[in-house]
Amino acid sequence: MIGLDEARAFVLTGCPPSPPERRPLAAALGCVTVSSVTATEAVPPFANSAVDGYAVRVADAASVPVRLPVTGTVRAGMSGLDHPVEPGTAVRIMTGAPVPPGTEAVVMVEDTDGTPDAIEVTIAVAPTAAQHIRPAGDDIVPGDEVVVAGTLLGPAHLGVLATVGVAELDVVPRPRVAVVSTGDELVGDGRPLGPGQIRDSNRLGLLALLRTYGYETVDLGLVADDEAAIEAVLRDGAERADALVTTGGVSMGDFDFVKVVLDRIGDMRWMQVAIKPAKPLAFGTVARGDGTRVPVFGLPGNPVSSMVSFELFCRPGLRRMGGHAVTDLDGPTVDGVLDEPLRRRPDGKTHFARVRCAWDHDMRTYRVRSAGAQGSHHMAAMASADALAELPDGDSLEAGAVVRVRLLRP
Ligand code: AMP
Ligand code: MG
Repeated sequence: MIGLDEARAFVLTGCPPSPPERRPLAAALGCVTVSSVTATEAVPPFANSAVDGYAVRVADAASVPVRLPVTGTVRAGMSGLDHPVEPGTAVRIMTGAPVPPGTEAVVMVEDTDGTPDAIEVTIAVAPTAAQHIRPAGDDIVPGDEVVVAGTLLGPAHLGVLATVGVAELDVVPRPRVAVVSTGDELVGDGRPLGPGQIRDSNRLGLLALLRTYGYETVDLGLVADDEAAIEAVLRDGAERADALVTTGGVSMGDFDFVKVVLDRIGDMRWMQVAIKPAKPLAFGTVARGDGTRVPVFGLPGNPVSSMVSFELFCRPGLRRMGGHAVTDLDGPTVDGVLDEPLRRRPDGKTHFARVRCAWDHDMRTYRVRSAGAQGSHHMAAMASADALAELPDGDSLEAGAVVRVRLLRP
């Protein structure tokens, strides 16, 4: 057996960041930037009103109420130049409209008796200088770094980039990932079960995990324990995807042909990792027709193991390929307090127990309970879990013990 850290380091070495690609803003959501973006424009580009109201000179409304003639209206999208605020007058102005020359403050419409076409307005509340005026460059000035290199682009990043007029930028594309299930015993698509058969659950689960984390997927289907069929499907997958995920056939069984095929067509390492579940793990690469190589994650067949292995190895590897920093490859991890004991014995392995984790507002802590049966085939408990509790090698942890939990939330 090798340690979790060693297995993980080996996987990450085989998952270098993909070459960057220039993309329109709308296609860059969820990608990592390769360089910083500096604004060349001011935001807002001109001084504008933060409210609907009246642009005035402060001295004209120093003692209120005061009645002023309204000399014009400036709407958003207009130039304010045609409607200067002359001494002793007011200009009706809408939110986002440029403040006209001479404006010293904007009085919000609620503090007036103003109506759309009235030729006079009564100001009821004296304004302070610059009130409700958003100066040019109030948010961003040219030269500001609006997005730093290595940022995972979320909706607000796209918003700020659009705000400063960026139409396209260089990002690391997210890998497209192909998934195949292997095993003679597997039945797909809700068809009736024959003797000795079980339903293929891993493929759907893994494809769903990938989509949940924002990856494009290729469903390679279900393949029997047959060398030629497995080879054909893996070669096809390598052409259609940036990474391959297989499930099943990587343990020590007699008919684990995934191992035979990958050893022949790929460059693989077969690992026994000191964790439970998900001890068997294969990782390596297979060549495409053009000579480039595709990372292959050979995940265990047991359903819980396949999902845990995905969290511990596959997701970090895919994030690395997608340009995330090595310090940012895992989901959120928090410390929790056990509400009940979590049983285990010393066996040289770190256990990842399926747990439910709830934020306790009064205690200001995460309370952790078992999600149910802890076998690597116990999918019902996996389904009701929202976190994995990390139990270091050793004895059971008692109620009240502090435990590290990896939250299973995208
Ligand atoms: P294997 O790794 O092929 O030896 O499979 C280990 C266990 O996982 C066996 O009990 C398999 O029947 C089960 N298994 C393998 N693949 C799947 C799958 N795609 N869906 C559900 N169970 C599976
Ligand atoms: Mg099998």
